[in-house]
Amino acid sequence: MNCRHAHEEITGILTQDVIASSQLQTHLECCSECRHHWQEQAIEQWTSRMLQVPVELVSQVVDRLRPRFKPVKS
Ligand SMILES: [Zn+2]
Repeated sequence: MNCRHAHEEITGILTQDVIASSQLQTHLECCSECRHHWQEQAIEQWTSRMLQVPVELVSQVVDRLRPRFKPVKS
């Protein structure tokens, strides 16, 4: 699985409650970029679903949460 496919599957998982495939799990174990993508997408999905607030406010919350999820990387 390449990163593009991984990103597509991540979007499906977060927006349509698709179960993560074993290929995706394997890819995430060795690809920090896709793990980071997942975290960012998940934060946006969860905050918009749970808070049910205007988009502008969600992006403010995401901006505040984001630094904690930054990968430990140069
Ligand atoms: Zn990847």
